[in-house]
Amino acid sequence: MKNSKTEKNETADVAHLQAEIERLRSCLDHEREVNNRYKEIIHSSPSLIAFLRGENLVIEVANEAILQNWGKGKSVIGKPLMKAVPELEGQGFYELLMKVYHTGEVVRAFEMPGEHIVNGERKLEYFDFFYQPQRNHKGEVEGIGIIATIVSQQAELHQKLRENESKFRQMIDFMPHKITIADASGKSFYYNKSWQDYTGLSMQELINEEKSQRMHPEERYYIMQAVKEKLSKGTELEVEMRILNKDGDYKWHLTRGIPLRDESGEIVNWVSSSTEIQKLKDEEKKKEKFLKLVSHELKTPVTSIKGYTQLLTSILDENRDSKIKEVPLSSYLCRIENEVERQVRLISEILDLSRIEENELEFSKKKFLLNELVEETIQDIHFSNQDFNSINLKNNCKCLVDADRSRISQVLMNIITNAIKYSSDIKDIEVSVEKEEEHLAAVKIRDKGIGIPENELDKIFQRFYRVGAKNEDTYAGFGIGLFLSNEIIKRHGGSIKVESTFGEGSEFTISLPCTN
Ligand code: ADP
Repeated sequence: MKNSKTEKNETADVAHLQAEIERLRSCLDHEREVNNRYKEIIHSSPSLIAFLRGENLVIEVANEAILQNWGKGKSVIGKPLMKAVPELEGQGFYELLMKVYHTGEVVRAFEMPGEHIVNGERKLEYFDFFYQPQRNHKGEVEGIGIIATIVSQQAELHQKLRENESKFRQMIDFMPHKITIADASGKSFYYNKSWQDYTGLSMQELINEEKSQRMHPEERYYIMQAVKEKLSKGTELEVEMRILNKDGDYKWHLTRGIPLRDESGEIVNWVSSSTEIQKLKDEEKKKEKFLKLVSHELKTPVTSIKGYTQLLTSILDENRDSKIKEVPLSSYLCRIENEVERQVRLISEILDLSRIEENELEFSKKKFLLNELVEETIQDIHFSNQDFNSINLKNNCKCLVDADRSRISQVLMNIITNAIKYSSDIKDIEVSVEKEEEHLAAVKIRDKGIGIPENELDKIFQRFYRVGAKNEDTYAGFGIGLFLSNEIIKRHGGSIKVESTFGEGSEFTISLPCTN
């Protein structure tokens, strides 16, 4: 017989058990609710989701989206994947799933093509997906979770882009020009076939090679400076340069580089093309040789014409009282002398051209006041251009230079006569001598003439270069004066700079080291 104490204890135990059962039931209900929510999310998700169990990849869970994609209805659930969706065989999916199952590593893939048979028709689509191993409490892989998204539109767009890029590359490979593509900082990442044929190097070897290596040592420094400047300013580059080929020979090229910008104007790439101009250069050399020959032949008779003209002028001067004075011979003789002088200058310039080419331009340097030479040159110009005498000279300081006097005079003469020549309407020319820096003198020549377009400023110092072919009839010239002047000043350790506004005028600055 139970005593009342034991009865009381039993009643308490039952109550406790009932409370525990109630708690567990409510936990279970809660878990079920959470589970149902997960299931709902999985089933209504637009992503393709499935869970496969065991090595046979039995489809345990498959949401609406993946079922629709497979196109086989709900009956696939409970079947091994490769039996339920047999067309997956040979498309690479099975191998990836097995890899996840055996290694336990997650596999991600992007824009992978997959073909399904839906309602008897083959349908190709592209997927981004990942396969995630599912583990039991011991950590062993016992299934795989699949989450995938259809990215067909994006993949087709990428495919088209790749096709276009490949067509574009084929096109530039086919070109005879050497094409390079570089990133915004100027680092090249693409060289077309023409580059590879010319250098005998592969694309990778060309990418690894130091850029300046292929340039001729004589131009290397100047070109690298120009490239640096254009890269920082984001402006176009145009240079003539010699490039080393696979046989160890340098061939002349015209190289152009342009920046490519995105919609916001940021530079994204640089494209450069180099065109071989060796034949043109050879022709130029032949022309120079011919000019040199002709100039030599012309020099003797012209010098003798000049001599006779001077002789006649002095005879005329000596016979002031004679009848011959009544004939206006003096002004005619002066004209002949000026024309002969021009011819002599032209012949000398042509001869200087070949001297520069053969590195034979010699200088005899001595110290003199630059101001005096500028003054003398202006006087000479006034003397031979009687109808023009309005060159305004400002001597801001005295500059002593150690240079070849007659060569510097040749430069001044060229730049000042250019200022007159290219200012047909307003002959308002200013020349000033000043100090640019402590040991740097500058002669500035300003005109209010026709000016030079900005894109031509770099080119006017090139040999035979003249701005605008249409001006050829209006302004006589050869296009060698500035080339020679620049070479002469460079060889004195100085430089010539030009600033100009098209239609408004130009300013040339000749800078020369000075000794005071
Ligand atoms: P040219 O014999 O043609 O004058 P240069 O070498 O002296 O040859 O000059 C080269 C070109 O530069 C000229 O053809 C001209 O187009 C341009 N140029 C030179 N000086 C001036 C200037 N002061 N104003 C305008 N254009 C100029």
